[in-house]
Amino acid sequence: MMRVEVSFSYGERKALDGVDFSADKGRLLAVIGPNGSGKSTLLKCIAGILKPEGRIELDGEDITALSPRERAKLVSYVPQSSFPEFDFTVEEFVEMGTYFTGGSVERALKEVGMWEKKSESVLKLSGGEYQLVLIARALAQGGRVLLLDEPTSHLDVNHALEVMGLIKSLSRERIVVAVLHDLNLTLRYADDVLVLKNGKVIWFGPTEELTPDVLQRVYGIKFEFVRGNSGTAVVPSL
Ligand code: ADP
Ligand code: MG
Repeated sequence: MMRVEVSFSYGERKALDGVDFSADKGRLLAVIGPNGSGKSTLLKCIAGILKPEGRIELDGEDITALSPRERAKLVSYVPQSSFPEFDFTVEEFVEMGTYFTGGSVERALKEVGMWEKKSESVLKLSGGEYQLVLIARALAQGGRVLLLDEPTSHLDVNHALEVMGLIKSLSRERIVVAVLHDLNLTLRYADDVLVLKNGKVIWFGPTEELTPDVLQRVYGIKFEFVRGNSGTAVVPSL
């Protein structure tokens, strides 16, 4: 289990204000909230890229004091997806994830279903495939915690569902925290939801207890939850 209780400021600007939650293996945690609410800052604090005030405990151990190398063995981070710029093969690219930790490239690529494409250039991959390779690079690092920042933001709906299905299955074996911008994917895949606004926790709990009222408070517009055969859809209205 991971327990997080952090505050963070960029200079004078408070980006996280006493953000307090826990995450468990086997339960996919989604972080949602409007632009600028502090979602990416929160992941960067957990990943150790930013130095917050407060505590981050993994199975009772405070990990904030660990060296970057020790921290990298525990926590893997997939930044918000960019597009590949350099002509690495898939295998070379994923190998970068193992520099500090010596994990297995083969196992990571097999886990995301991209082992057959190991010799292809990352420049030739589709957006969905590149996202899988980014996840594989994080898996190769071998951490107990996997952090993902908007893993489906560049993907069309079928690839988004495929990547979310993979993330859901990865969450059985590790603690997974995913920033999601899509509320429908959140309702469909998340087990727990952390709702941020202006750097504060507005709501935290199991997905089935999230209500349209909470979303209205956060986004400032009305929502309706429509229950269908394949799940619940969020319908916004002005
Ligand atoms: P989100 O990911 O929810 O869109 P961010 O965590 O990126 O939000 O940003 C939270 C707040 O911190 C925003 O007000 C943003 O403008 C500010 N912020 C983010 N990065 C920086 C930075 N490098 N320097 C100063 N302010 C920043
Ligand atoms: Mg962000």
